[in-house]
Amino acid sequence: MIKIDKELLEFISYAAKNTYPNEFAAFLRDEEGVISEVVFSPYSVFGNSSATISHFSLPIDTSIVGTVHSHPTRNGSPSEGDLSFFSHYGKVHIIVRYPYENDDFFFYSRNGERLEYEVI
Ligand SMILES: [Zn+2]
Repeated sequence: MIKIDKELLEFISYAAKNTYPNEFAAFLRDEEGVISEVVFSPYSVFGNSSATISHFSLPIDTSIVGTVHSHPTRNGSPSEGDLSFFSHYGKVHIIVRYPYENDDFFFYSRNGERLEYEVI
């Protein structure tokens, strides 16, 4: 089961709300088995169409376990582009959909399967 820090979830919710109607995107960092930090990439593109994390800007950092991005809609499912990106990088990917409350978080594996998660 994926474990994530409660304060980090609150931060992501806050950041997604602040970035709305654009998308928010960042990397996730794991500390001792708990996702507890987000890392911003200077090359992340924030736009209306799609939050794109450039493949050329992926951090070489083994504590990075995946990504998070927001959807400014009620759709928490990964797009084709999301699935393609997930399959190339990391092991856990979060999509948080509008309006970015606790039940708007969706966790996916590399293969795009839903993952259970626990808030610590
Ligand atoms: Zn997406």
